[in-house]
Amino acid sequence: MFATLSDRLTSTFKNLRSKGRLSEADIDATIREIRRALLDADVAVPVVRDFAGIVRERALSAEVSGALNPAQQVVKIVNEELVNILGGEHRPLNFAKTGPTVIMLAGLQGAGKTTLAGKLALNLKEQGHTPMLVAADLQRPNAVTQLKVVGERAGVPVYAPHPGNQGEAALPGVSAGDPVSVALAGLETAKTRQHSVIIVDTAGRLGVDQELMEQAADIRDAINPNEILFVIDAMIGQDAVATAQAFNEGVNFTGVVLSKLDGDARGGAALSVARVTGKPILFASTGEKLTDFEVFHPDRMASRILD
Ligand code: GDP
Repeated sequence: MFATLSDRLTSTFKNLRSKGRLSEADIDATIREIRRALLDADVAVPVVRDFAGIVRERALSAEVSGALNPAQQVVKIVNEELVNILGGEHRPLNFAKTGPTVIMLAGLQGAGKTTLAGKLALNLKEQGHTPMLVAADLQRPNAVTQLKVVGERAGVPVYAPHPGNQGEAALPGVSAGDPVSVALAGLETAKTRQHSVIIVDTAGRLGVDQELMEQAADIRDAINPNEILFVIDAMIGQDAVATAQAFNEGVNFTGVVLSKLDGDARGGAALSVARVTGKPILFASTGEKLTDFEVFHPDRMASRILD
């Protein structure tokens, strides 16, 4: 038994390397290993099927010539297709041409949104931006407090309604209990205070539900974000597809952040989400500290899966 996807593929490719040429039977044996390994890595079943089909076709038609032996060619094809599904090049954040750049976060409860808000704010601050966090997660009693803590740690101001009353969100016509109002008031405040970026934390539920989606869509329509980032726990496994599809339909997110990549996750969720939504993965969250944050590079992720 092999512990990881990487081990599996490495071993498979070792078998290939021991042979001079690739027959159709060799390729099919390899594809079987790749399928099994990807399934073990929790890549969604339809994504595995697609991927295997693409690699098989390319491997069969690949010319055995040049500097690469057949095994190296299959490795190259697998790597190229992984990078392809993961979005090719790294996609940087879109910034507004004028006024504050609006970044909205969406995802299930516990996905790592609040933590990510702090990480992203710190990262942007270090790049010379003047971010502000906006607490529009009013479902969980603790969420506002948690965002304030994160903001303090990042040294970034947090726009939030005070618990139980109007608080700072008390602009004319704004209700502190209404996330759309709070998000809008946060945006207005950012303009007045000349913040270059706002990061809006929104409510997550334990499971996907219609009310949550509608609330997120309402916030989106009110603040017109430059980026809607869908934060997903890399450990979510086969549920990645249904969750990503629901959020893609619900809020039409512009990019993905993969959280908890410091755990045992082997990257299966990254492949599944990228493939079924076609949306780029922008960042990876790799721990509980604010500095555990990385720009997502498709080629590095592909290598991580293969190495
Ligand atoms: P939210 O409900 O989506 O806002 O999720 P939180 O930001 O509150 O995160 C949920 C839990 O996951 C917290 O205990 C975080 O400390 C933890 N967490 C968030 N991101 C990461 C990460 O990248 N790695 C690890 N190991 N834990 C994380």
